[in-house]
Amino acid sequence: MAERKIGTVVHKELITPGLMRFRLAPEGDSQFPDYEAGQYIALRRDDCKLTRKTGVGQDGKPIYEPEYDPWGRQTVGPVTHSYSIASAPSDTREHGWLEFLIALEDGVHGLSGRLSDALFGMGQETGCDVTYHDRIAGNFTLAGRVHDAQSVLMVGTGTGVAPFVSMLKELKARSDGSDGRRYTLVHTNRTALELADQDTLFEIEAAGRFDFMYVPTISRPSQDVAIDPRIGQGRANNVVRHIYGLPTAEEDKQTSAKSDVSRVAAELALARLVHPVLPRHVNVSDLRDRVDPGSSVLLTCGNPASMTDLQSTAARRDLRFELEEW
Ligand SMILES: Cc1cc2nc3c(=O)[nH]c(=O)nc-3n(C[C@H](O)[C@H](O)[C@H](O)COP(=O)(O)OP(=O)(O)OC[C@H]3O[C@@H](n4cnc5c(N)ncnc54)[C@H](O)[C@@H]3O)c2cc1C
Repeated sequence: MAERKIGTVVHKELITPGLMRFRLAPEGDSQFPDYEAGQYIALRRDDCKLTRKTGVGQDGKPIYEPEYDPWGRQTVGPVTHSYSIASAPSDTREHGWLEFLIALEDGVHGLSGRLSDALFGMGQETGCDVTYHDRIAGNFTLAGRVHDAQSVLMVGTGTGVAPFVSMLKELKARSDGSDGRRYTLVHTNRTALELADQDTLFEIEAAGRFDFMYVPTISRPSQDVAIDPRIGQGRANNVVRHIYGLPTAEEDKQTSAKSDVSRVAAELALARLVHPVLPRHVNVSDLRDRVDPGSSVLLTCGNPASMTDLQSTAARRDLRFELEEW
């Protein structure tokens, strides 16, 4: 077990009420261990509102409810979870901190996630200390997953973009353009505001230090007042299906529906579907050539349902597939 240390939050920023970024400085005069872009670290707070398993739902999933002390107050205690590092190793060498993107977990039964709620609540009253395990781990790295592919298609949904932000910032910091690989990031969240780090990613693309194309899309476009033409629409899995010339998952479900119930469910899903639309400046056939299955690898992190569908798209197109499981 790695040594536990106590870091201090030196920057905390709410991007939306359910999404935040923070930077953690290491304990005292120490430094964080060296790491590769794409890796993660375990974080802990001791003021998490605890829950306990009270049964199993009809779907077979465990049910958790708040845990109370004899005086009827919710028990508070430690929770530790892993978080992908969104800063680049070069940022950490220069400034000392690690950066994270955290989503406030919507728990079932109206319960927020235990640790994410405590991280969102950090402030003057609760303190800005975060305990960390002094070990950075994981093999979701370019060296670990890309091998001899010439083109890397990254698909990051929600905070699942964090490992890719780290990789792309590091490529920009290191690259003199000789890397030779093509990098493409499909980055999806519900709204444009939630496309964390989009400015940085547009800047990396514009800097042209290496071959990078940024393809941001939003899955709930109606919530945005005016949509930036550089941002496309649709869920990440459907955007990738569109790139590879496949129907959307919802259209596939309608085609394969065998019973009345599944046909009705498929039609309802189709009625709500946000059809995939690429950013205005991106041409689908150019993009298809760029990520051609023979020379590419698809790396993905984020929403589990999206990753499952991406895996089936990769299998249909004979594309190598690598995922980070959260
Ligand atoms: C390698 C890795 C990297 C990750 N990177 C990120 C990241 O960059 N950003 C990010 O936002 N998230 C990341 N995560 C997810 C993160 O680790 C947490 O799972 C997430 O923040 C939710 O934690 P929570 O304590 O808020 O929610 P929890 O309270 O743990 O609730 C989450 C689910 O756990 C179950 N649960 C509830 N209570 C209990 C209990 N008492 N015991 C057991 N299970 C319970 C419920 O099913 C609930 O829906 C990553 C995960 C991994 C594995």
